[in-house]
This record gives sequence, structure tokens and C-alpha cells, in this order.
Amino acid sequence: MDLTSPVTALPGIGSARAAALKRLNIETVYDLITDFPRTYEDRTRLVPICELEVDKPACFEAMVIRAPRTSYIRQGLNLTKLAVADSTGTLNLVYFNQPYAAEALEYGREYCFYGTLRGDYSRTQMQNPLFEPVERQGSVTRCIVPVYSLAAGISPQILRRTIGLALSACLPTLPEVLPRSVLESQGLMGAREAYQMIHNPPSMDALEAARRRIVFEEFFLFTVGLLQLRASRRAESTPPMKNLSLARFLAALPFAPTAAQRRAVEEITADFARGTAMNRLLQGDVGSGKTLVAAAAACLAVQNGLQAAIMAPTEILAEQHLTSFAAFLAPLGIKPALLTGSLSAGEKRRIKEGLAGGTIPVVVGTHALLTEDVAFQSLGLVVADEQHRFGVAQRAALRAKGTSPHLLVMSATPIPRTLAMMLYGDLDVSILDELPPGRQKVDTFLVGEAMRARINAFIRKQAAAGHQVYVVCPAVEEQEGESVKSVEAWADTLRRTVFPDLRVGLIHGRLKAAEKEAVMADFAAHKLDVLVATTVIEVGVDVPNATLMVIENADRFGLSQLHQLRGRVGRGKEKSYCVLFSSNQNPETKARLQTLVKSSNGFEIAEADLAQRGPGDFFGSRQHGLPQFKAASLTLDMALLKSAQEAAAAAMADEQLPKDPCFPALRLRVQALFRGAEAP
Ligand code: ADP
Ligand code: MG
Repeated sequence: MDLTSPVTALPGIGSARAAALKRLNIETVYDLITDFPRTYEDRTRLVPICELEVDKPACFEAMVIRAPRTSYIRQGLNLTKLAVADSTGTLNLVYFNQPYAAEALEYGREYCFYGTLRGDYSRTQMQNPLFEPVERQGSVTRCIVPVYSLAAGISPQILRRTIGLALSACLPTLPEVLPRSVLESQGLMGAREAYQMIHNPPSMDALEAARRRIVFEEFFLFTVGLLQLRASRRAESTPPMKNLSLARFLAALPFAPTAAQRRAVEEITADFARGTAMNRLLQGDVGSGKTLVAAAAACLAVQNGLQAAIMAPTEILAEQHLTSFAAFLAPLGIKPALLTGSLSAGEKRRIKEGLAGGTIPVVVGTHALLTEDVAFQSLGLVVADEQHRFGVAQRAALRAKGTSPHLLVMSATPIPRTLAMMLYGDLDVSILDELPPGRQKVDTFLVGEAMRARINAFIRKQAAAGHQVYVVCPAVEEQEGESVKSVEAWADTLRRTVFPDLRVGLIHGRLKAAEKEAVMADFAAHKLDVLVATTVIEVGVDVPNATLMVIENADRFGLSQLHQLRGRVGRGKEKSYCVLFSSNQNPETKARLQTLVKSSNGFEIAEADLAQRGPGDFFGSRQHGLPQFKAASLTLDMALLKSAQEAAAAAMADEQLPKDPCFPALRLRVQALFRGAEAP
């Protein structure tokens, strides 16, 4: 038997229990030993009887001073009573329906018990405490008991025993995957010791040390994998572009690029000249001008006889991208095409033919662009927007479309460095840390209901000045028992009672694509004064005439999301404002929202958001592409993440790594971790 053996190789595991284990994603012996406890029951502390507290489980040593006596209460219920004592007090013990176990307690002998005191001080007793003779304590008392996630069909005892069997059978063959130098410099225990201890911790300190080692291992392997991916992608050869002059592009620009934009364009140009595929993340706050940079990249591709594909997460955004890319490219005689699901079959066919035949140089669309049956004549560049919505595996899939096309991913969500490494560790990064000149700070206010009338007057004032207003609600429709504002109900109220004289529109994710498109088009054309919306407007739609963003139930949103929403205004020359409504009186919530009032720096806000909510919630959804770890918690182990990332980067740079005895095992584990992430 070895680590790859199926669980059925273990005694006591037949097909029924194997099926139960499979529900826990456990199929092999290795899966079993990496099925880490969900939590632990600490039974190590020994207390005297007088210090036992109600409802707090504890161990105590005591002598039986009144022999067990079982009485039959009624059908199916009998009761065994006895009394025990130590030098500090006596205690009555009661066992329900366990006459044989309880009667084994011998008068005059000392035992170690583990149980929970129930009742009040006038009549305390303990029910069904576990016990073992003092001289043989350590298996149910005075120990730390691992608690595993369970599935129907397998009891906690069986699962524990099976993991124990797996450990004793295979631990000796478990290879070390961390380099010796890393173990030493980080003060980490070896793999075998750590795996043994995480399942059977002799003490809480030992457990902590074991956990630290295993969490470090997970982060380390993951980072090594990302760095390898990055290295291998850098090695993918693709013909270097010859014509790298941007003179015409720059000459046609309506404004001078910022220094940050220039730098990013230079980095991309250098990538194109290198003869290996670019894998670059372009990170920049809302409004930092990522489109210009991407358009420059597309221009270079086209100039070298290659096609460029630009992908957006939604159809509305694809349409807006089409417009903004066209603004940069049309003066150069490059006409981008749009390919989305809502085109007619005939139009779709025409565009697909153009792409396959090479007559369409630039295409803008949704992700479907690269997952469906779209063929390109010479796809040279893929630009993906709002990267944080898909992870490493998705990126790999789209690479398969061309012969190693260059890849530029754009993210408007500033991401703290440690997390950025997790999501984009396989990419090079360009950062737009500068906004185009003339941008004014969006003044932000946190207000309660008491300000409602004044804010309504302010909305009216903005509209009267010819500007437009967004009102964002957390929900689409009214929910029973929910006090949050919904787009449908609130738009209705505003239309009928608050602003009957204004043109109020509404938009949310449940509308059909064509309906959303029509509403957005109306708002962009100033046929609406107020747009009541969900966060569908979060990503990128550009209406420079909008000067006020009102967010209802602001406490329902993450800081980064609020920052993103706020980025919808202040895109033109006019002074812009953001109003956060929140009736939440929780001081922590208020402090959280104040971050937004004080700061307009996306990276700063992201750090605060991460610190306050943890990475799980950071992206507001489960589609964030962050990896799932078995032992590591992205909330609790951020410090360890950082040191593991640094150690992994150092190890990868070290030429000695392939000579380390851990190397073959490390490589296998990393491969397993990233199976499916490589381009097919
Ligand atoms: P992002 O996609 O990074 O949020 P955009 O590319 O949509 O930002 O640019 C935001 C706005 O700033 C657009 O209206 C764009 O035309 C404008 N813009 C971009 N770069 C510059 C610049 N260098 N100078 C002035 N305006 C710019
Ligand atoms: Mg954009």
C-alpha cells in the first residue's frame, strides 16, 4: 500500500464507506492523510472538581466514592448513578442507557473523566462523562481530539480510525517537499512529523507548529507552481513583432498619455519584441486609462499582421469597449467588430467568417468569444478585462485559441500585493498608479436617514444643472423580511413620489441583455436623469455627465466594491459626489465606511477591505479564482502566506533547488496542484 492506493486498500473500508469518503472528496490514502481536522477538542486541561464550570467541558481526576447503581426508569430508559470525589469536592455522575460501561467504574478506584457540568449550583451533575483509569489516561481524556468534517455513511470514530490506519501504513513513505534550507530558515518541522501531529497533536503548541508547517507547505507549493507557470509561459516562443513604432497611434490621440500609461505601453512593447508570449496584468484604479494602453497593444498587433481579441465580462461592457477602442483605433483605419450573443445568426456568421479569413483585425466580445467555435486566422493578442472574475485555469483555456497569443489582462480592482500574487503570480504586472490630469477627487459623504430630504434636494439640484445621478440599491426586488432597498421598489417610489418631474430609469442583472443595453444607452444619451441600479453598473460603463453616486444600504457592500461604484462618477470635468446611505450603527461598520470617505486610493482601500473582511469576502463572490486550500486559511494565515511567497521566490531563484532531495516530490506535488492549468 502506498499514498496513491485507493481507500479500499485499508482494512474496514468497503464500497459503502468508500462511497461515503468520496462525498468528502477522499479517494486515496493520500487524500485521507490530507483530510485535516476541521477543529480540535482540547481535553488536555485538568481541573479540580471545585473549579469545574457549568457548560464548559473539562477533565478531572476523581475516586468513585459511591458505587454505580442502575435503575430502570421506563421502556428504553435506564439510569446509572454514582458519586466521585477529589480532595476539593464531590460530584454526582449520571449515565443514561450505558449500564455496562458505567458499572465498570469500581468503587474506591481513581479515574480520569472528561465531561461537561450541567445545571445550576444548587444541583449540579454530570451526564455521561468519558473516563479511563488514571494510570491509562490519554486516549479519551487528557488528549486533543481531532474533529473532522463528516459525511453520511461514515461515523466520526470510523473516520478517525481510518485516518490513523492510513497514517501508520503510509507516513514512512511520505516524501519531504520542502527544501532543507527552507525548513531550517523558517524553523519548520519535517513533513512526517507534521502530518502525524496535525492528526494526533500531543499538545496545543505542537499542533500549532504542525499546522504552521503544513500551511506553509501549501502556500509554498502554490507559489512555486505559479512561478513555474510564469517561467514556462515566458519561454513560449512566438515570433517577435517587427514594426513596433507607435508614432501614428500617439499622433492620433486626443490627449497626452500619462507617465504611467507610457511606462505600461513601453513594457508591453518590450514584451512584443522579445519573441516569447506576453503574459501581463495591467492593474489600475478606475479611470486610470487602461483602455488607451490596451488599444496601443492592439494597434501594434494589427500593425504586425496579427488579430486582437478583446473580452469583457458582460455584453454592455463589450459594447462600451467597442466604442472606446474604436475611438483610439478608427483614426488609424482599424475598425473593430463586435461579437456578442445577441447578434443575429447572420451577423454572427459574417463576423466569424471575417475572423477566420483575417479580414477583421480587432474583435470585441464577451468571454464566449474564446470558448465557442470562433476561429481566428492569426490571433496575436488577447485582452481580457476585469480579470478577477476568472482564474488561472480560465486563462489557460483561452490561450489555446492561438499559437501562443500575447495576453494582456486588465483589472480595475486594486488588489493587495499578497493576494495579487495568488491570483496573478503567473503574470508580469504593469501598474497605472496615476490618474489622467484634471481629475477631481469625488467628495464622499456617509449619511443616515436624517439626511434623506437634503440628499433628495441635492439630487434635484444636480439634475437641474444638467447632470445625471446613479442610485445603487443592494437588491433587485423587494424581499420579505429584508429591509434593504430594492431597485424595483425604490425606482417606483422615486418616480411616483419623490421625483415625478425627473426621468428615472432602472437597470439590474435580471433584465435581458437587450433591455439593459437600451437603458444604458438612454442614460448615456441623457434621456434619463436618474438611474436606479444594482451593481451591474459597477464594471466600467462610462457616462462622464454623471456627477452623483448615491448608494443605499452602503453597509451591504464591500469597500472595494463601493470604491468601484464611486468610480462611475468623476469621469468628466464636473465636480462629483458620492453619498453613502447607511443606518447601520455598528461602530465597526461605520469605521469601515469612513475608510471610503477618507481615501480615494484604490490600493489603500483594498488593503483596508482585506484586513477587515478577509480575502474570502474581498471579491464579494465565490468566482474570485482564489485557490482553495486544505489547511490554510486566507483570513488567518496572511502573515505566513507572505513568508511562504518570499521563500518560494528565493527557492526558485536558487540554482541548488533541483539538487535538493525534496525536488522530485516537490515537482510532482506542484504538477498535481496545477493539473489543468497548463494550456492543453
Ligand atoms: P479605466 O478603464 O482604467 O477605468 P478608461 O480607459 O476608461 O479608464 O479611461 C477613463 C477616462 O479617462 C476615459 O474617458 C479616457 O478617455 C480618459 N483618459 C484616458 N487617458 C487619458 C489621458 N492620458 N489624459 C486624459 N484623459 C484620459
Ligand atoms: Mg475600463
